Order: sequence, then structure tokens, then C-alpha cells
Amino acid sequence: MAGVVQGVGFRPFTHALASRLGLGGHVGNDGHGVFIDVEGPAAKIEVFLGDLRDQAPPMAVVDGIDVVALPPLGVRGFRIGLSRREDSRSTFVPPDSATCTECLRELADRADRRFAHPFANCTHCGPRFTIVRDIPYDRPATTMSDFGMCPACAAEYDDPVDRRFHAQPVCCPACGPALNLSDAAGAPIPGDPIAAAAQALRRGEVLAVKGIGGFHLAVDARAEAAVAELRARKHRSEKPFAVMVPSVREARRLCAVDEAAERVLSSWRAPIVLLDRLESTGLAPSVAPGNRQLGVLVAYTPMHHLLLREFAGPIVLTSGNVAEEPICHEDAEVLGALSGIADEFLGHDREIHVRADDSVVRMFRGLPMPLRRSRGYVPEPVRVPWEFPRAVLACGAELKSTFALARGREVFVSQHIGDLENFQTLRSFRAGVEHFRKLFGIDPQVVAHDLHPEYLSTKHAQHLMETELVPDIELIGVQHHHAHIAACLADNEEAGPVLGVAFDGLGFGTDGTMWGGEFLIADLAGFQRAAHLEPVAMPGGRAAILQPWRMAAAFLRACPDLDGPEPELAQRRQNWRAVTELAGHPELCPRTSSAGRLFDAVAALLGVRDQVGYEGQAAIELEQLADPGETGELGEPPGSVVDGGKLVLRSTDLVRSVVTELRAGIPAPSVAARFHNSVARLIAETCSLLRESTGLSSVALSGGVFQNALLLNRAVTELEHNGFRVLVHSRVPANDGGISLGQAVVAGARIS
Ligand code: ZN
Ligand code: ZN
Ligand code: FE
Repeated sequence: MAGVVQGVGFRPFTHALASRLGLGGHVGNDGHGVFIDVEGPAAKIEVFLGDLRDQAPPMAVVDGIDVVALPPLGVRGFRIGLSRREDSRSTFVPPDSATCTECLRELADRADRRFAHPFANCTHCGPRFTIVRDIPYDRPATTMSDFGMCPACAAEYDDPVDRRFHAQPVCCPACGPALNLSDAAGAPIPGDPIAAAAQALRRGEVLAVKGIGGFHLAVDARAEAAVAELRARKHRSEKPFAVMVPSVREARRLCAVDEAAERVLSSWRAPIVLLDRLESTGLAPSVAPGNRQLGVLVAYTPMHHLLLREFAGPIVLTSGNVAEEPICHEDAEVLGALSGIADEFLGHDREIHVRADDSVVRMFRGLPMPLRRSRGYVPEPVRVPWEFPRAVLACGAELKSTFALARGREVFVSQHIGDLENFQTLRSFRAGVEHFRKLFGIDPQVVAHDLHPEYLSTKHAQHLMETELVPDIELIGVQHHHAHIAACLADNEEAGPVLGVAFDGLGFGTDGTMWGGEFLIADLAGFQRAAHLEPVAMPGGRAAILQPWRMAAAFLRACPDLDGPEPELAQRRQNWRAVTELAGHPELCPRTSSAGRLFDAVAALLGVRDQVGYEGQAAIELEQLADPGETGELGEPPGSVVDGGKLVLRSTDLVRSVVTELRAGIPAPSVAARFHNSVARLIAETCSLLRESTGLSSVALSGGVFQNALLLNRAVTELEHNGFRVLVHSRVPANDGGISLGQAVVAGARIS
């Protein structure tokens, strides 16, 4: 039997089922999943097989049951066997799971031997992926191997009817890991670590907390001074922080939580969920400045629950890392890395083998749409309805990097690695690839990569090619936006062809320029660029990403009929002339058809901001500024020209309309919303035109710009109104975190 069947209570479940039906035999784990030998009357075995699938434990995913008839051995009674060690490793390690309700009940029960035990877990919950060193997934192959079970825990572990039967990380206060608290110099702080850590939070200090997939930094979410201090020390000026609460009930005090959001918040995956924040929350303004939304997550380990109960309030919880480096996960590195940021360290002696950030999702039409896929989701594979003829490694892009390993009908997409722009992240990327190769026994024969020659992920692919001992490893370059659309297809278990709308920041095009506002006619194997936004100068190249006002200047320069643009951007008057001058010299600045840069320009024109701290910030804030009640569009619809067989959409017309409406005194929130609506209309109308020439009536929307829920919602509405079937993301992010999945399926299609 294959699927997510190890470490999720499958053997005890099988035991209970077989015992109830009076069947004999045994069950065990092997490298392929779970194997069961069962004997008894045929009718009962029939019931057994049905229930095996239908009544499986909550975290289990049964992919397939292979049944082989064997002569009966006359076995009475059903027992649970040990794991068979085998070389072929194709089974799944489950994702980490938030504390279950049963364990929570014990945590609060003074009479229970796990009362207030920070590491309580069972077959339905607890750490998994982040503690597994190797498979088969058994205790000796996890970071719990250092902890010998006490007799009481061993009895539960061996008792087939116990909730902790073969729960690999099972432990209690007598035998499990222990918390510790130290100051910034590493000196132990005496007393109860939870009580003392809560005290530190109350004093407004920054607390480093060792969680499931790494260290976090925590402060009192209601104390402005503490939150501002954390921002200053982390050099993180504006990016919103997430807030952890003990329960969905507490989340309701901060945000609008509907039923769908409640299901996601309280699920065992326990991601950060972006939700509309309420008017008065009592939270410090610096938690999420300028944002209508707030990222909220419910406590997902007993330790978090104990800390929040002791502290009695919401806490800011953000990744414990230095600037853009990966989240810290090793005790040895954390003091050095975070000593300038955290005042105290709440740690423990259970090792984290694999780092995993918190996952982030946004709700779209009642379903979670992943923005960052990590803890709680990884390493669950993305299953596709076709076969990879050979094993594939896909190296991903650069920002929000992930990689993917594929074989059979599964793609194992890695956790969020981070921006592959520094050595630490590259190291983490390489280590991650090695770990996945070992864990899933995949030796890639094909390596897929982005076309951008300067991405570290591309260089890693070439490095593998040059150094691997695999004799004829094949390299396949995949165009960035084709990968986005292929990711969306795979996300929906489809193969196309489809009209693909890829709107994002920047991606390397096949003509050597930077693309990002693309309409592709695509299937998995290939694509044709059918239409795109008009290329506009990016004055100063990379500087234009961090200073959206430069994009505004470039767009305005492309509208010569608009005289005197300075009033819109008075604050940059000094540099203005130099930049417009620069924009006029195509040989001096790269040109891009990027939709992300168009959103940047409009954000700058509407006074959202001139500078950003991270890619996409201005566009995110533009969405927040937009009045959701505004249904109108900008006065003039954008025109188009045909150039080299491609439809070029005049995005400068949109910018001209924005300026005209601003000058007419229309408030910025209305103009922002009209801009969104006009872009949605442009998408729908362009797709309608392409449908006439191609007959295609399905549209896939992907790329980082579609993290914008307002734009996505309006675009889907318009497209559906025009009779299209629309595919959006629900398993991997629309941003570059989904690129590795897209590269993998494109490579798979090309070698088929
Ligand atoms: Zn549990
Ligand atoms: Zn114990
Ligand atoms: Fe992209």
C-alpha cells in the first residue's frame, strides 16, 4: 500500500480494523509504504480492504492498494511487525502536524502524566519531516533516537490500541527532550523556562524560540516599542509580521474568520493565513503597517501553547534569520547569528534535522491559495496524472526558491528555501537537494533549470552536470513564464493546451530580454508567446525594482502627450530628470514587459511609495489601497499593436489614464481599484481575442502578480463572464516558489 501511510497511525489503525473483523496476520512498514498479510473469510477481507481506504487516519493519504492472493498460513490474531529495511525507498515521510485536540486536552489535565509537557505528541500529531534523517521512518532514523523511551512510554508505543502506538517521537517529561532558557551570551537562566520566557515577553524583550522547523523571533504583539525594536534589530522596515494566537477564537478578535478560513487555521497543517484585520485589535501599529490584512496562525506545538497560555496574549512570530539568510535551525549557529537580535533564547535539546519555515496561505473563493509552501505541506508530493519516464531534478528560479524531484507520478517540491542570492541560501539549497535525493531514493537523470544564465539555481544545474558521476545527465532549460503556466497546469492535474497568462516581476525571455506580462499558448512540452505587455525601459536596471518611482518615470516618458509629470512625483524632482533621460536611452537600460513593474509604476504614481524594502511591496500595498467597492474601470481602455506576429498591449495607456484620473481629482483608492479592474478586463479581452485564433477556451493564471487577490478575483470573474474555464493555483504558489514544479513537468513532457 502506497501513499502517506507511515508515521500517521496507519499500523495501529490496521490492527484495530483487523482485530474487529477477527482476521489474522500482521502489518509493517517497508520502503514502499505499508505491507499487510491478512487471512480470514473472503467477505471479511472485502470489508477490511474497503475500510482500509475509507476510514484511514486523518493525516494518511492512501494512493494505492496492491492486492496479492497467498495461501493461508492458519495465523490467528493480528500483530504489528517491525519495519523491513529495503534499498528501494519510495515511501513518503509525512509533513509535520500541529498538536491534536487529544494531546491538547492532556496538556491541560493536571492528572495526566503529560500535563504541561512541551513535547507531547501522538500518531495524529507532532514533528515528522523536520526530524527525519532517513527512511524507513522509524525512531532510530529521527532526531528522537537520542531519547530512550521510559517504561510507560514504551508500553504505549507497543500497545496496538493506544493512540501512541508506534508514534515515533513519543515521549513524556521523564524521558523526552527538555526546554532550556538562556541569555544572549548563552548563560542559562534559572527557573521554569516557559514562565521566565513569558516574563521576558512582558518586559518587551525579543525572545528567540526554537520551534519545529527552526528558530523564530517573538515579541509581545500589543507592545509597539517591542515590535518596533524587533524591526530595528532585524533591519526589517515594513514587511508585515505574522501573529500567533492560541486558538481560532482568539484569531477572531483580530481578523474576520469565515468558515473556510477557520478550517485552514485549525487544520493540522497550521499555516499562517492572511485575513482581513478588524478595526480595533489592540495590536501594535508596527505589526503590519499599511496593510488591511494580517497573517495569523494558531499555536502548533505544545510549547507554543504553553508559552501563549503563560503570556496570555498574541505574539509576533517571525523567522529567526539574519537579513535574507535561511531560518536558523541549529543550536550551534543560533547564538552567533541571533545574539544581536534576541535578548533571550528559549531552546530545547531535540535536534531539528531539516529547516522549514511556516507556510503562508491566502484565502481565495473558500480555498487556501499557497503563497509559501513549507511546514505542514512538505514533503507531501504533488501528484500528477501522467508518468515521468526518467527521474527529474528541477532547480527552480532565484527568489522564493524551491527545487523539485520527480519520478513516477509524483513531484516532491521542496520547502521554501529563500532568495538564492547569498552563499548561506545556496548551501541550504544544495543540502536540501541531497536530503531529498536520499529520502525519496531519487537519482535524477534529467536536470531542469531557468534560462537566466546568472541565477545560482541555473549555475547549480550546470555544476551538477559537470561534477555528477551519473554518466549522461541531461540538462533542460525551461523558460520562466512557461514554467509558471506549466506549474499551474500540474497544480490542476492538467496538461493543456491552454491560454496561459503569466504576470510576474521579471523572468528571462527567449529573446534575451526580461519578460513578465505574458500571454502564452502553452502545453507542458512547449509554448508560443502570443501577446505581451508593451516593453518599457527599466531605468537603472535593478535600481528600478527597489525604487518604483523610476518605473513611473519610465512609463510617463513613454506618454509624451502628458506634459509636466513632475507634480505626481514631486518628492523625486531632483533625480527625475536624470532618470527620464536614462529611460530615453534604450542602450543604457534593459526593457521589460513586466506586469509587476507596471503595478510598481502605478503604485508610485498613486503615492503608495517611492522605495521598497522587498520585491513586490509596492504592488502589495497598491492592492491594499484599492477600494474594494469600486467596480468602475479607467476611462480609456488600452490599445494594442501587432508586432512580429505578437499582440503588444499598450500598458502605457493604462498609466496615462491613471494620471488623467488623478488630475481630475478622483481619490487614489478609487483609481487604484479601477486600475485593477482595467487590468482584469485587459486579460479577459486579450484571452477572448486569442480564443478566436486558437479555439482554446481554458485559461491558466500564474506568476507572482496573481498573489494579488483583488486582481485574481476580478480577472477570474471577467474570464468566466466571457465563457472561459479558469485554472488557478491551490497546491503550489503562483509566485516563483512554484517554478520548480513547472520546470519538472516541462522536462518530463520533453523527454516523453
Ligand atoms: Zn496528538
Ligand atoms: Zn516517557
Ligand atoms: Fe516569476
